[in-house]
Amino acid sequence: MPQRGAIDLHTHSSVSDGTQTPGDLIRAASAAGLGTVALTDHDSTAGWDEAREAAAGTGLTVVPGMELSTNYGPASVHMLAYLFDPTDPAIVSETLKIREGRLHRAERIVEKISRDYGITWADVLAQSVDGGTIGRPHIADALVAHGVVADRSAAFQSILHWKSGYYEKYYAPSPLAGVRMIVAAGGVPVLAHPATHGRYRVIEDSAIRELVDAGLFGLEIHHRDNTDDGKERLFELAAKFDLQVTGSSDFHGEGKPNLLGENTTEPAVLEKLLAAGTGSRPFRG
Ligand code: AMP
Ligand code: FE
Ligand code: FE
Ligand code: ZN
Repeated sequence: MPQRGAIDLHTHSSVSDGTQTPGDLIRAASAAGLGTVALTDHDSTAGWDEAREAAAGTGLTVVPGMELSTNYGPASVHMLAYLFDPTDPAIVSETLKIREGRLHRAERIVEKISRDYGITWADVLAQSVDGGTIGRPHIADALVAHGVVADRSAAFQSILHWKSGYYEKYYAPSPLAGVRMIVAAGGVPVLAHPATHGRYRVIEDSAIRELVDAGLFGLEIHHRDNTDDGKERLFELAAKFDLQVTGSSDFHGEGKPNLLGENTTEPAVLEKLLAAGTGSRPFRG
């Protein structure tokens, strides 16, 4: 079926580090005139039902998704996953393990920060929803609430920067394990914003080939954090490995300047994605 309206395949709600509830996010996407939006909270599918309910009657198509955390050596690599079975046991247990790891890691970061600034763990919990995926953005919000920094961006440039001395890592599977898990659950994996570090190749071509062999569907090239040099290399990789090209906003509500629909995906790519995903269905509201 042909898709109408702009297609934005990467957004976050308050289930992870977006600032709007899934319902409000869907209403904002509809108001912004999008035709299709994917909800891709970090390591959680908890917003899917509310997003579907909110889409009813809006004409908006909702693609259920997630942004899976993976670790590649010292680097945190994000893997978008669409249309997988949210009850798949491996996905359920692995994402639970990641969320629990994130929680304890955030506690360790806050413990260190609290020696120098007046925030407590309770302040951070107050910035997140029960059972949601905790990340540095919630610590940033607590720092903003205490008047330590002006906004999330300022927090990430200083106290929450990985070089700041407060940084801690958290458990996540490898990108290859992530792709395999998503594909095994009927899902479609897309490497998120892969070129945020310019010429520095976080994932070398041989490792990308392994991901392709495991079923990687595409690369999120049209994203504000990919550098121009990086995008050039990604287009070459997409041609070489016959990968699809996606584009998206990575909207986080008030948490980031990114605006819904600021980058979009071609309708033909969405058609292929919808045909490839077998673990869950898109919802046409
Ligand atoms: P974490 O996964 O806990 O390490 O935190 C990383 C998350 O913080 C990413 O998902 C981004 O959405 C968010 N983030 C990274 N840099 C910034 C920034 N400069 N401003 C706001 N949010 C950011
Ligand atoms: Fe985020
Ligand atoms: Fe990301
Ligand atoms: Zn994201």
